[in-house]
Amino acid sequence: MTRLFGTNGVRGVVNQGLTPELAMRLGKAIGTFMGGEIAIATDPRTSGDMIKSAVSAGMMSAGATVLDLGMLPTPALQFYVKSTDAVGGVMITASHNPPEFNGIKCVDGDGTELHRIKEEAIETIHFDASFGECTWDMVGSMQTVTGADRMYVDAIISGVDAEAIRASGMTVVLDCANGAGSVTSPALLDKIGVRTITLNGNPQGKFPGHPSEPTEDHLADLVKMVRELGADMGIAHDGDADRTIFVDDSGRYLYGDKSLAVMSRYMVRQNGGGLVVTPVSTSSCVEDAVKAIGGSIEYTRVGSPIVARCMIEKDAVFGGEENGGLIFPEHQYCRDGGMTAAKMLEVVAIEGPLSKLVDMVPEYHVDKRKIVCPDELKGPLMDAMAKRLGGRVDRTDGVKVFRDGGWTLIRPSGTEPIFRIFTEAQDVNSAREHGERFQSMAEDMLSQL
Ligand code: MG
Repeated sequence: MTRLFGTNGVRGVVNQGLTPELAMRLGKAIGTFMGGEIAIATDPRTSGDMIKSAVSAGMMSAGATVLDLGMLPTPALQFYVKSTDAVGGVMITASHNPPEFNGIKCVDGDGTELHRIKEEAIETIHFDASFGECTWDMVGSMQTVTGADRMYVDAIISGVDAEAIRASGMTVVLDCANGAGSVTSPALLDKIGVRTITLNGNPQGKFPGHPSEPTEDHLADLVKMVRELGADMGIAHDGDADRTIFVDDSGRYLYGDKSLAVMSRYMVRQNGGGLVVTPVSTSSCVEDAVKAIGGSIEYTRVGSPIVARCMIEKDAVFGGEENGGLIFPEHQYCRDGGMTAAKMLEVVAIEGPLSKLVDMVPEYHVDKRKIVCPDELKGPLMDAMAKRLGGRVDRTDGVKVFRDGGWTLIRPSGTEPIFRIFTEAQDVNSAREHGERFQSMAEDMLSQL
């Protein structure tokens, strides 16, 4: 069957792949599937109102009531759905993609990202046109809801040690990337007494400050500002503020594996042990940090909904991805950029400067490469590789082979005819050597298939 939902909802360039016609038809399918009261919110993209209106019209035509929450971070919509009688939610966002993109993402009644099986049910309704029949007198209405931003901010504050944060008197530079975090994060930091200098803190749909993916290149202003002000940390969100990336007090941009390791260690210590869940692609520095203080680690396939579901099943104390998407189970089972920022402030308030905490994280080097592989040969290649390789091999997602001081993961792309090869080692040269070896091995085996 043709797929609509990718790993992060339905995404496309507005008025090309993602048209109002598609959005309305998908809205009819979502309304048919969910029924009841459905909350909807957008990030600041220029097409937000258009896509929201089309999806909403479709949902109302199927008899659903639409609760319009306005502009919000994705986790704020998720928190609203989880905390109220809404049966589900729809987020209009393309997260970190360029401004010409937008997307439609569905949220289940408990606030988690909609399960694959339910997405498939919506796709089936969409393609079969088996929409709920609704006469004129049963058409749904649209209600404007205010206050979801405050509800979210207050929940975060109640989930952290706000007194410790206030008492520490920190100065922070906050970069909202002109995204949805502009609506909640400045207010959040204000309420917990953090002196905040805000960059790109006004919502602007063309993301004029910098592209909305929080990479090192895009955060040059933030790094500079943290250094010049001698701030305690820099905080950066992606476009829909479900992710947070940090700059430490020495002005170092921190790759997401570092902050994930620092937070994993803190959460395990706070809970007196416990399980941390993360995808197979995550750096070993997280496992090292967790095991060093008596916690355990569980690897999943790549994708935050999969991490969240595993956390629920196994009652994990913490989980997350190394792209800055961190999940705090007592708050909600989804990536939450606002909660991540507040919790990191708590960690620093209680345990000392972020640079010191980061220096305790073991250093690994990563080699990334890719090979072209037709979709139909992806399965056979993985089987052949797994058969050839001895020792500890993990097939949770692709083929991951461990060796002393590192590992290599060979993983098919879900969207392109390529395999990605990630190699981690304790020094740059050995990461590159192992990466080259695996690349030529994979290319050899592919030529024989
Ligand atoms: Mg995002």
